[in-house]
Amino acid sequence: MIIGADDYLRGVTLESFSTDDTVFVTQFEQRIKDTISTFGILDGKENIVVAASGGKDSTVVMYILKNLGYHIRALTVDTHIGCYTEQNLKNVIKFCESINVPLVAKDFNTEFGYGVCYLRDTLAEKGLNVKSCTVCGVPRRYLINKYTREMGADVVITGHNLDDECQAILMNYFRNTLQLSARLGPVPGVIRDPRFIPRAKPLYFLSNTEIERYSKLKGFQVAYGHCPCSTDAYRRHIKDWLHAMSLKHPRFKHRIITHFLANLPALRHKYRSDASPGECLSCGEPTSAELCKTCSIMQLASSPTQTI
Ligand code: SF4
Ligand SMILES: [Zn+2]
Repeated sequence: MIIGADDYLRGVTLESFSTDDTVFVTQFEQRIKDTISTFGILDGKENIVVAASGGKDSTVVMYILKNLGYHIRALTVDTHIGCYTEQNLKNVIKFCESINVPLVAKDFNTEFGYGVCYLRDTLAEKGLNVKSCTVCGVPRRYLINKYTREMGADVVITGHNLDDECQAILMNYFRNTLQLSARLGPVPGVIRDPRFIPRAKPLYFLSNTEIERYSKLKGFQVAYGHCPCSTDAYRRHIKDWLHAMSLKHPRFKHRIITHFLANLPALRHKYRSDASPGECLSCGEPTSAELCKTCSIMQLASSPTQTI
């Protein structure tokens, strides 16, 4: 069932948080609980895997789910972005040990033979302008789906938050790729196929600033800086603009999300697909093309004649 903004707002409010830290912590945790229950994110789910990066978002969501009594495991994918991912990997290993969450670690070098920076630069040398976030995000999602399926997960919990969602909504709007927005929402995705593990976003209604505040109050050892590869990203430009607007109009992002949720059912109806995906000719993972996007990227890295 798809739940619109009105349904959500009947269950919980999006009021501003208290300036008092103790009250804030309670309100913050309550909003996550409300999001989980309102959208049925963990109803009856036995096998929960958190996609953990070592950053503040996935660290916070793991901590809260564990405290709420859910049995969780974590999967991390090291994309090899120099010191940035080295530190994140150390942090996620340490954090999972500290709260007794079993962690499975995968990495790009072992899986593909390349890290993100090498992939991006190799493609650039061949005259292909592929952004870091594409060669990072596409294969990372691929590995998360593949390995959480192997882990028997019923649901993958991600740390996507209010800012991430607003950025994606606006990017799709400005790029005229509205069909991609149909895949967003607290419980994203439009294709129901057992080979795709459903994902969910308990931090959907919490901003970067609020999550960072909570993380710092809890003293989590996480890095708060930008990914060094994100500087050329379209998303980064949208993020900076959203931040500037939010300083002048504090409810700006909430209104974007509220408007979006009210229209999400119609979007999903318009862009729904009942066709079952086929199999990638190279790796056998589900895809609607001959090659999945990850195999296409990896083939591009070794063949200068192909284009995306
Ligand atoms: S900002 Fe882009 S390159 Fe950096 S970790 Fe995120 S998706 Fe990967
Ligand atoms: Zn493939």
